[in-house]
Order: sequence, then C-alpha cells, then structure tokens
Amino acid sequence: DKSVDSPTIRAINKGVVHRICAGQVILDLSSAVKELVENSLDAGATCIEISLKEYGEERFQVIDNGCGISPNNFKVLALKHHTSKLADFPDLQSLTTFGFRGEALSSLCALGDLTVETRTKNELVATHLTFDHSGQLTDERKTARQIGTSVTVKKLFSNLPVRSKEFHRNIRKEYGKLISLLNAYALIAKGVRLVCSNTTGKNVKSVVLKTQGSGSLKDNIITVFGMSTFTCLEPVNICISDNCKVDGFLSKSGHGSGRNLGDRQFFFVNGRPVDMPKVSKLVNELYKGANSRQYPIAIMNFTVPTRACDVNVTPDKRKIFFSDEGSILQSLREALEKIYSPSHVSYSVNRFA
Ligand code: ADP
Ligand code: MG
Repeated sequence: DKSVDSPTIRAINKGVVHRICAGQVILDLSSAVKELVENSLDAGATCIEISLKEYGEERFQVIDNGCGISPNNFKVLALKHHTSKLADFPDLQSLTTFGFRGEALSSLCALGDLTVETRTKNELVATHLTFDHSGQLTDERKTARQIGTSVTVKKLFSNLPVRSKEFHRNIRKEYGKLISLLNAYALIAKGVRLVCSNTTGKNVKSVVLKTQGSGSLKDNIITVFGMSTFTCLEPVNICISDNCKVDGFLSKSGHGSGRNLGDRQFFFVNGRPVDMPKVSKLVNELYKGANSRQYPIAIMNFTVPTRACDVNVTPDKRKIFFSDEGSILQSLREALEKIYSPSHVSYSVNRFA
C-alpha cells in the first residue's frame, strides 16, 4: 500500500512565524538600514548618523535628532503592526511618511539584537530599551542623550543559519549596495545631514559618506559625486501631465558613464527612492541615440499625487505602481527624445561653469 497518511495541520510556532514574515521586510543589510533611516526621516530628523561595525555584520546603528519616542510607546514600539503613522487602510491614499506598516522594528527584533535609546523634548533624560526576538520590551533604564533616537542592531541574521552564512560571504557586496542606497537618500533628502562611517579591525573608523544637509539637489549631487560629475549633467524638468512632473538631472549626451552600473541611476517618487526598471531602460535606450558608447547618469524625481501611485506593493516598498503608467512612460519618451535628439545635442559644456 503506497498511500500516504494525510499529515496533520498545525499552527507554526509563534517565534518561527516572526522569522518567516520578518524575512520579507528585511531582506538584507541595506533594507535593514533603509528602514531605520526612513524612521529617522519620518521623525523629522535633520541629522542622521549611520555607524557600522565590520561593514554592518557585527553591528549597525542609526542615530538621529528627530522627535524621539514617548515613554507611553515603549512597550508596543517593536510589536508587529504597531505604528504611529497609519490608522486605517484609506490613510494609505494620503501617505506622506516612508513607513506605514509597523513592521520594521519588529522584524529587526526577530532577526537580530535590538536596542533603542530615545528622548523626546518632554523628558530630561533618555531611556535605553532592550527588546527580545518577539519584540517584547525586556529592559528599560535611564541614560544620557540629546533629544532624538538611536537604534542599534547587533548580529543581524545570526539566528537564520543559511542567511547568516550568505550574509558573511557577500558582506562587501551588501555593503556596496547599502552605500549606493544611502547615496540615494543623500541626494533627495533636502536639509538633512547624513554621515555614514564604518569601523573595522582594531577601531579603525572611516567616514564613507558625509553631506552638508543642503537644501538643493544640485548641492547634494556635488557632495555625493563631485563637481566634475556635476558639470556633465543637464537639468531636466518634464511636465508629464497637469499633476505629474519629473525633475532632476541627466547626463549630457557627450558625457555619460562608461559603465552600465545601477549605481549612477537614482529614481524617486515624491522623494521616496524606488526601483524603476522601465524608466531606466527608457532613459538608456534614448540616450543611446545620442551617445552609443556610454550610459547616462540619471537622477529623476517624479512628483505625482499620492492617490495616483501605490507603494504598498512589495514588503520593501521599492516597487511602485502608477495608476497611469502607460501614458507616463509615453510622455517621458517624447520628452527624452527631444532632449537627446541630434538638434539639441549642442548643450554648452560650460553651462555650470
Ligand atoms: P513604521 O515606520 O511603519 O511605523 P516601524 O516598525 O519602522 O514602523 O516603527 C514603529 C514606530 O516606532 C513608528 O511608527 C514610530 O512611531 C516609532 N519610531 C521608530 N523609529 C523612530 C525614530 N527614529 N524616531 C521616532 N520614532 C520612531
Ligand atoms: Mg518604519
């Protein structure tokens, strides 16, 4: 008799559920740090410091001067689906914060060791909070700190053996991806100072990114990529429709970059860094008409009504749906065709000199 007994259906152990779900929000080092940086931006920080130890493998910490977390919230801070940003589903339509699901801190608890130090303007001293893997507050003590919040995660993925091994093996690549992501925030976050440092070996600390918190995209590009790169860019201002526009900078037709590495193309929707493979492909394709030897640098921010796009598509919110994608792409194509048509190729190289 080859028939198999029907297996019993059981609930998965709660701790395991946490890890399964958490694995979807926090895919890797850069998505982990991204969530923390976005929390700092949501908290109104004007200065955000990202501090890594051994490229983030040992520890990463995000320190901000935002509004801090009120003591009433300490107990529920790291519980799944607890958020101060979204109360009801329709609120998603008018979302202005990066976060909304209340999953990042609970996921980070499940995947590593999480501690928080925080102080609001109403407290004279800060509090140091320790959480366990299910997001429960396990320890609370007073400490000294300026107003704001520091979140520290140690040993990310150490309780997922395969992921942990993979993380270790790919640490340099993961780190590169993180720096590129931080560059995206450094470009778009106006008036926010970003500093990132990495400490290796015997306390050798190197600053890998440092911005001034300027108010303009132009200044941010110069800080991140340097003046010589900036002089090779042309500003773009494209009106797609009554309520959709694109602004940013693109390579002048003679001055692309030799490589087609994703690290020189940045796309944003209402200031949120996102992946836009179709737009990237379009820009590359039309640029080719003017310059077949190189690839363009692209920094493009789409401003659209919040109700016309959906960021609630993937757990990491890097994917976005436009309600009107076809016509947006078509208008963009027409505008780029003009920019890269032979008759328009004679931009003055010294435009910014
Ligand atoms: P979400 O950002 O989706 O709300 P998170 O798990 O990332 O979910 O954060 C949970 C809550 O913790 C936030 O809604 C916010 O109230 C608070 N919080 C997290 N990080 C910070 C921070 N750096 N400063 C102030 N509040 C924070
Ligand atoms: Mg968040």
